[in-house]
Amino acid sequence: MSERGTERSSTNDQFVKARMLALLRERLHPSAYEEGPDRYNYSDRTEPCYTGRIHENRQRLICHLNPNGKIYALCFSRNTEGGDSDVPCVSRAYCLGDLFEDNISYETGAVKVDMEHLKRVPGASTPELVAEVAAGLRKPDDLMKLNTVANEWIAGKFPLLGIRSGVNTGKTVFCGAVGDELWQASDRPITTIMITYRVAQAEDLKRRFPRTANYLDLKADYENQWFQDPNDKHNLLTALQSRKDFPEIVVQVDSLLNLRPGGIGEVAPFDPKTIQRLELMDPSIYTDGMEPRVGRIFGVSVDAV
Ligand SMILES: [Zn+2]
Repeated sequence: MSERGTERSSTNDQFVKARMLALLRERLHPSAYEEGPDRYNYSDRTEPCYTGRIHENRQRLICHLNPNGKIYALCFSRNTEGGDSDVPCVSRAYCLGDLFEDNISYETGAVKVDMEHLKRVPGASTPELVAEVAAGLRKPDDLMKLNTVANEWIAGKFPLLGIRSGVNTGKTVFCGAVGDELWQASDRPITTIMITYRVAQAEDLKRRFPRTANYLDLKADYENQWFQDPNDKHNLLTALQSRKDFPEIVVQVDSLLNLRPGGIGEVAPFDPKTIQRLELMDPSIYTDGMEPRVGRIFGVSVDAV
């Protein structure tokens, strides 16, 4: 492997091939399969090529890994008809994604800890302890490192606290403990959103955080009920849209757009925001009209790959 670990070698060949196929299925052709060394085909011929063209014949693709760790698909079709440009597929490769899901900026900015369970202990990091570390009088342990970062985030020193940790290492419990602190310290109801990928996860989070309202329950329990919009008395809101009545909610990603009154416009920003299983989601899904302009995003919780 290269110094950056993103080049191809005999030792990572199988990994590269598996990643190519996974990306190809995820981003371009759900019915893709391997057909030879780096060659791929797809069985559902209604799936459009990356140029928008439909290839009814047995047109194949090849996948390349470039030295920066990007994986590209290249269709060999020379057909210039149809599609979204006059250029044939073969003159334009399509970037499928990265060989590794980690990007370098994430790694370089991360504080790494080795703990069985992530534990929220605010007092494990105090200004006095931090000063002692800075003066070289003390070495920080992992509990202190973790809680220093959390304390800094709560103090508003940076906008996003992202956590990447394996299954059953206490990410959700940790996020919940921090959320409780914020809730207790605030003189108004703080608004939070937890975004999940699956319906079952949303139900699980609702059970674990009894203060929250599950989007499905809001829909079923308040089907014909409307709520006043405090910012505009001519507006009526559904239960899911009413932050005054339901400040803390759990929403499955497909239902995010229902947060927008009338299906248009922007959603009022939340205070903390938890995204569960981010790696499974297309970023465009949750940034479209959802990006908080003020306030803080909280706890991007991503399971280890
Ligand atoms: Zn093509």
